[in-house]
Amino acid sequence: MRLANLGGRLALVDGPHAVDVATASEGRFGPDPLGAFRDWDAFALWATTVDASTGDPYQEGDLGCPVPNPSQVFGIGLNYADHATEAGMPLPDSPMVFTKFASCLTGPTGEIPLVPGRVDWEAELVVVIGRGGRGISVDEALDHVAGLTVGQDVSERALQTAGANAQFNLGKSHDRFGPIGPVVVSLDELPDPHDLAIGCRLDDETVQDSRTSQMVFGIAELVSYLSQVVELRGGDVIFTGTPPGVGVGRKPQRFVVDGEVLTTWVEGIGEMQHRFVAPRR
Ligand code: ZN
Repeated sequence: MRLANLGGRLALVDGPHAVDVATASEGRFGPDPLGAFRDWDAFALWATTVDASTGDPYQEGDLGCPVPNPSQVFGIGLNYADHATEAGMPLPDSPMVFTKFASCLTGPTGEIPLVPGRVDWEAELVVVIGRGGRGISVDEALDHVAGLTVGQDVSERALQTAGANAQFNLGKSHDRFGPIGPVVVSLDELPDPHDLAIGCRLDDETVQDSRTSQMVFGIAELVSYLSQVVELRGGDVIFTGTPPGVGVGRKPQRFVVDGEVLTTWVEGIGEMQHRFVAPRR
């Protein structure tokens, strides 16, 4: 299944067609887009009875953030071997975890305010939790995943790396620095989530172009690892790390400038597009 936020309402989509979940379920699920993830097992069972291809046509411009206001947003650092090399860091023994504060999440299109500093891009595969829990084993972890979406872990590097203990959380949480979308795709729709093309381009220049097969810790390992400490809840979001090609790792370094358009994709899920806009005086 492919889940979307259409005009603020939970929808199931299939190609150009969409079914409004609250209407089709007679109020059992939705219209809050988070409603699907908070009662995941019941929702997933109900969704098998819906044929979204018979729904009404929708406009892509109406797609909003598919998981607005989750209880927790996790980020994973240095989770692609080649990216760790470009960052000049050794591969971690265990996942390197930070947060993006939930208020930075936004949808798959629109403008992102360009803050002062060194604003950088990080195309990422994003996991959305369905069934929550603690102490989830690696073997069971994929049963707790609702689906996958595309994300950009937009990062302002000056604040991210400021101080004796770097402020990853703040530097990655400016307004709209966490776009996700366009839809959440359940795992059964993807032949192998660990072999998907992932990348992004700034205007016409491709800056990241890799595959999820390069990930150090896979989806099941990340879900299990986090759940040993934190209770995962339906709708929680995990940014799983970025491949090589970020601006801070380039020679010479290169950062986003006013007006540039960032297009981000993951094979089998979709594409997002955002324009960076500096505040006007
Ligand atoms: Zn990242």
